Amino acid sequence: EAGAPIAVVTGGNRGIGLETGRQLAALGHTVVLTARDVAAARSAASGLTGDVVPFRLDVTVPEHADELARFLSEEYGRLDVLVNNAAIHYDTWQRAASADLDVVREAAETNVYGPWRLTMTLLPLLRASAHPRVVNVSSEGGSLASMGGGTPAYSMTKAALNAVTRMLAAELRPDRILVNSICPGWVATDMGGPGGRPVAEGAAGIVWASTLPDDGPTGGFLRDGRPVPW
Ligand code: NDP
Repeated sequence: EAGAPIAVVTGGNRGIGLETGRQLAALGHTVVLTARDVAAARSAASGLTGDVVPFRLDVTVPEHADELARFLSEEYGRLDVLVNNAAIHYDTWQRAASADLDVVREAAETNVYGPWRLTMTLLPLLRASAHPRVVNVSSEGGSLASMGGGTPAYSMTKAALNAVTRMLAAELRPDRILVNSICPGWVATDMGGPGGRPVAEGAAGIVWASTLPDDGPTGGFLRDGRPVPW
């Protein structure tokens, strides 16, 4: 295996995804910075230093995942790091007892089925890597241990994403693919709003999980490298 590690980041045009791309590129990764709006991917990539390749990927569109797989296969023949970062609907405006299930369903398409499908589509490329890592960007909002009321779409879909993490980690252990859920903490982004910690700190835990040694954790739910209760 020659050359820089290859990393894909979803939702890479802003927020934590953009900062994760910045940090991975600074570490010497070739970063395929994806966004559902290709113009946003291009302009974000052009603002970063290093080997950063913009690519269109709406995680809810299966054909986009197929196109990405084809591109990676032709260009690099493998994928080393997949960061499933894109997410929507931090629905502070609604409650589980009166939820709009169309909003919940829409959240599930982006926050659960999107990363799940993308991981499956890119599996052959991950299997071709010597040190494959999958990072599912989750949230303590998906922790059943600390779950109260509110943000039903967000909390349910992050809990479901954590379930996907556990299943994939178990099934892909023989392939030595490390799969973890990472909570970035409360981060000041469009989603997080003002007052959270800087994106650099939120992205650091994601980068850590993207660059784990071969004997690193898998099937974990971690923030700042420490376990979060499921
Ligand atoms: P932002 O809302 O700032 O950014 C979300 C990103 O996801 C954008 O790039 C957006 O693209 C992209 N996205 C949304 N839908 C799709 C889609 N269908 N296909 C591809 N990309 C899509 O969120 P953050 O940066 O704050 O959050 C990043 C991750 O961190 C999320 O998984 C979030 O749940 C998690 N997180 C964030 C916390 C926080 O405090 N900020 C706390 C805990 C977890 P576009 O610009 O086109 O909308």
